[in-house]
Amino acid sequence: MLVAKSDLHSALKKYFGFGKFKGLQEAVIESILSKKHTFVIMPTGGGKSLCYQLPALMQEGTAIVVSPLIALMKNQVDAIRGISNEEGIAHVLNSSLNKTEVKRVKEDIVNGVTKLLYVAPESLTKEENVEFLRSVKVSFMAIDEAHCISEWGHDFRPEYRNLKHIIGRIGDNIPIIGLTATATPKVQEDIIKNLGIHNAKTFKASFNRPNLYYEIRPKTKTVDADIIRFIKQNEGKSGIVYCLSRKRVEELSQVLQVNGINAVPYHAGLDAKTRSSHQDKFLMEDVEVVVATIAFGMGIDKPDVRFVIHHDIPKSIESYYQETGRAGRDGGEGHCLAFYAYKDIEKLEKFMSGKPVAEQEIGHALLQEVVAYAETSISRRKFILHYFGEEFDNATGEGGNMDDNVRYPKKQVEAKTDVKLL
Ligand code: ADP
Ligand code: MG
Repeated sequence: MLVAKSDLHSALKKYFGFGKFKGLQEAVIESILSKKHTFVIMPTGGGKSLCYQLPALMQEGTAIVVSPLIALMKNQVDAIRGISNEEGIAHVLNSSLNKTEVKRVKEDIVNGVTKLLYVAPESLTKEENVEFLRSVKVSFMAIDEAHCISEWGHDFRPEYRNLKHIIGRIGDNIPIIGLTATATPKVQEDIIKNLGIHNAKTFKASFNRPNLYYEIRPKTKTVDADIIRFIKQNEGKSGIVYCLSRKRVEELSQVLQVNGINAVPYHAGLDAKTRSSHQDKFLMEDVEVVVATIAFGMGIDKPDVRFVIHHDIPKSIESYYQETGRAGRDGGEGHCLAFYAYKDIEKLEKFMSGKPVAEQEIGHALLQEVVAYAETSISRRKFILHYFGEEFDNATGEGGNMDDNVRYPKKQVEAKTDVKLL
């Protein structure tokens, strides 16, 4: 399908009210409209949803969107319904629907009303759903959070492994669109292989976050005092402090409070009401600091988070990148400070010891990268981007001097002894 540029722009305006495309969106959409398999790698917040929503709205038939998170699917369906008078334009198909609801969804699809059908991978494996989808016109399949297909990603979901087979059953020549914010070459290879999209047109945005400053400090007994000092030096700014355990979250948030810092705890052990109240307080700026486990962050969109502190080093570079990425969304200052002790790596290794061997091996390899990152003397930004398969030149690249190793190079003590001539 050939669509003039002006048509794409007017569709963007008509459906979403946006004046221009973000980053690679336009090229991605052109690829989808021309019925090619397409692979999209963009950081979180890059605007991946629109890459499949717009071509779905512009084409005949229904686009099937696979996504692992029911809450996110519901959000997207509500948003799409909000731009149209036709409620049936987007639907979710899952096991929580009753018979009447399922009937309505199917009717809307058959009648060509539904442009976007969101399904969880579990629902897609149901025989009756496959049978039904075989009988209707499918414009394309979008696999959101496609890294779930890979054991090397941070959120492996075995049901994603069946997708290729199921898509094959739904129809021949259905274009497949994979989307992810995971940039590691290993995960990308896995996605291409498991979705069978070797000939996909690939679009990869840069993962560089030039406004973030990366710093690692040794973790000692004084870590709490170090954190307090840092927060006091940044008075009035919003920040997140990540800890590994719920217990540490509780302890540290109390220590901060005792020291006159307006902080609240957040972790999955708190009841839903407390969690949402603490989250709201942070968003409304009633508190400055959230001390949290990784339960905090998914879908939190506070643009002016000025610092992210890691009291404990995360289990992969990927997690570190996602968590630090919550700072400076508005393009302003974002200080990413992590405290590192090798002891914490050993602790993380221990946590994994009960898991299947294959999982342990992957976990171990990911941790070794974290160690290398924490102990490196090269630019942290260069290291992260290299990990994501991206070349970075500190002399010319944006944010080239925004990490501790570049600002304060470590002395090359070892070099002296190495050059002894024999
Ligand atoms: P991702 O899935 O890549 O993390 P989303 O699809 O959730 O990102 O989009 C992130 C934000 O960007 C959303 O608030 C969305 O409305 C906004 N956005 C997407 N495309 C555009 C655009 N062309 N112009 C302005 N805002 C956009
Ligand atoms: Mg997304």
